[in-house]
Amino acid sequence: MVYTQFIDGVLTTFSTRESWTNYNPANNEPMGEVCLATDEDIEAAVHSSEKAFQIWRTKTGAERGRVLSKAAHILRSRLEKIAFSETQDVGKPISESLAVDVSSAADALEYFGGMAAGIHGEFFDLKNAFGYTRPEPLGVCVGIGAWNYPIQIAAWKAAPALACGNSMIFKPSELTPATALQLADVFMEAGAPPGLFNVLQGDGSVGSKLVEHPQIAKISLTGSVSTGKKIFAGAANQLKRVTLELGGKSPLIIFEDADLDNAVSAAMLANFYTQGEVCSNGTRVFVQRQIFDSFLLKLKDRTEKIRLGDPTDPDTQMGALISKAHMEKVIRFIDSGKSSGATLLTGGFRPEKDFKGRDISSGNFLTPAIFTDCDDAMEICKEEIFGPVLSILSFESEKEVIERANDTPFGLSAGVFTNDIKRGHRVIHQLQAGTCWINNYNITPIELPFGGYKQSGQGRENSLAAIQHYTQLKSVYVELGNVESPY
Ligand code: NAD
Repeated sequence: MVYTQFIDGVLTTFSTRESWTNYNPANNEPMGEVCLATDEDIEAAVHSSEKAFQIWRTKTGAERGRVLSKAAHILRSRLEKIAFSETQDVGKPISESLAVDVSSAADALEYFGGMAAGIHGEFFDLKNAFGYTRPEPLGVCVGIGAWNYPIQIAAWKAAPALACGNSMIFKPSELTPATALQLADVFMEAGAPPGLFNVLQGDGSVGSKLVEHPQIAKISLTGSVSTGKKIFAGAANQLKRVTLELGGKSPLIIFEDADLDNAVSAAMLANFYTQGEVCSNGTRVFVQRQIFDSFLLKLKDRTEKIRLGDPTDPDTQMGALISKAHMEKVIRFIDSGKSSGATLLTGGFRPEKDFKGRDISSGNFLTPAIFTDCDDAMEICKEEIFGPVLSILSFESEKEVIERANDTPFGLSAGVFTNDIKRGHRVIHQLQAGTCWINNYNITPIELPFGGYKQSGQGRENSLAAIQHYTQLKSVYVELGNVESPY
């Protein structure tokens, strides 16, 4: 398999100038070669996207919406094929790719497709004049993706961008080159003009060239905080618009009156879904003292039953980490937890066999880890690990836990479990996080804005809120009388 660029409606031919091997996380066998976008590719993509933008911006919202809705339909019809690609690229269980990744991408296309015809300005009656506003597109936008939810990230960026009349160049993570190309194909089949959604392969060097390119109007990144800071700084030179969806170290707070089984389910979802490689994960699980022991017992028991193994097996519940290097980084965090005095209650090692007895020793598998006897100051409780590592902390009072939960430079997400409706809202309103849940965790419906406070990001994806990040408002004053002149 070779992964090239998708420019102006076609895949480019494989150029041997510079390429890298894409490995399957489940066994570290090569799956294909990815071809780095050259400077000429970048210029061609920008030119083609600019051309598509000039066509696309003249379409009515309804016309644009029709293309997006058709793309959603085509994506759903290819669910199994694309989900399989995603699982091979990312290492996540096929059950997840089928249930979430592709469907949430289709949801975004459907949602913004339906909304496109309704994007409108406002009217202002001004005595002998009137005014109105027009939400106009920005131009050629760039989407830069992380590797954990490749097709979902591409669609969450492309759908609102295209609905608003922009075109997009998308650069997937260098570790997951496959499904953005499939999305590009879907857009073409749905009737998009060539160049409306181009794909460039490459690492941060291609990303930063796009950020600095004078014809790019906006950048939307999903990635780490450190990359977010570089892009923000790079975009500042030309005062480009930026949306940043970054990392976190989010708190999940469980009060003594919570439904224990639901809270345990949520803590597992908040730490072990996609092998723990989820930006919004609630990796600091605060449990009130009274229920600490019973919570821990249930959590350990259920965590040890997670079926870890071959990601393509429909019975698998947990797959492989994205790369050997990333797995080693997660292991270093686990070692740091142990050496700082936390107790590794379960997991955190590389298994030889999967739940069906198959040899998985060559893959990037790590058993789900739970740390107890943790302290807020430990590295494992402060840094984003981005792997299946849960730290459990106990607390006494509401005031104390709010302070400790907020004591972080991040602010992506937060969760609260309680059956006291007043406490649920009271606590969530005081948490410094952009995406919050009461009595659930990591649910991200397209209707709700998604994004972070503090260093976890800028701007919002999904929902009506995304529209303002892909449009600029023009105010028009219309005189109905004479020009009053002092001259
Ligand atoms: P990363 O920051 O290393 O890379 C993200 C993307 O940015 C990649 O495509 C990469 O090639 C590109 N990039 C790197 N340097 C760049 C530069 N200087 N200029 C332009 N582009 C550059 O992140 P990752 O390892 O791919 O993903 C994991 C991170 O993403 C985690 O921190 C996670 O929390 C975050 N994430 C956030 C969300 C969210 O919605 N908030 C979702 C998923 C992942």
